[in-house]
Amino acid sequence: MDVDRRGFIKLAGIAIVGLLAAKPIFDVFSRTEAPKKAVEAEAPTQTKTKWGMAIKIANCKDGCTECIAACNTIHNVPNIPDPKHEIKWIWDKPYEDVFPEQNSPFLADKLIGLPVLILCNHCDNPPCTKVCPTGATWKRADGIVMMDYHRCIGCRYCMAGCPFGARSFNWVDPRPYIKEINPDFPTRTKGVVEKCNFCEERLAKGLIPACVEACPETLVFGNLDDPNSEIRKLLATNYSIQRKSELGTEPKVYYVI
Ligand code: SF4
Repeated sequence: MDVDRRGFIKLAGIAIVGLLAAKPIFDVFSRTEAPKKAVEAEAPTQTKTKWGMAIKIANCKDGCTECIAACNTIHNVPNIPDPKHEIKWIWDKPYEDVFPEQNSPFLADKLIGLPVLILCNHCDNPPCTKVCPTGATWKRADGIVMMDYHRCIGCRYCMAGCPFGARSFNWVDPRPYIKEINPDFPTRTKGVVEKCNFCEERLAKGLIPACVEACPETLVFGNLDDPNSEIRKLLATNYSIQRKSELGTEPKVYYVI
């Protein structure tokens, strides 16, 4: 009996050691959540900044493209004549197309055909980042929805996930279509997706986005988490709308009507 008990204890000990050694393997099979993307893990978890933009649509001058030109120049956005291959970071469309849900038979004359700037909304609840299989796009703690061109495999799931058409795909090598390459910003290659980055590279140097610098009469950029910021004061005293707010993506680009 004593021998049996000793044998049992020995066997039990071996079994426990074996189970502990095998735990990492069981963990792999029993994991229910996807592993954290490395880029998300690296992002800071605490911030008091949530970047946003307000666009005073009435101030946008018809035919003026200064903000678009400033963005394109700084970010090496190519000028590809074939509309099927166009790359766009910030551009404009008529009011009725940007806000189809606001249309009515009696839309104010001043709004009909008014050019309205559009860009990535840096949504607070971005569907684009959730469908990327490689972690090439993600939301930073300060709200900027980023792109890592080196991680992008060109599957275009993010484009399908974005309800705003805010992303462009490089169907052709964009470099021959860049008038003068800015050596301070990376160019992209055929087969990757790109979009507005809220000038994160300029924010890191304490500068405002290039489009806002080009047209401060129309564009206001700032911290939505700061009640004393210019953008918060503007939104507190003016009526504003967001694109497709009913979808729940929580765009951080506001249109002051
Ligand atoms: Fe993503 Fe589109 Fe929202 Fe930009 S506008 S964050 S690309 S869903």
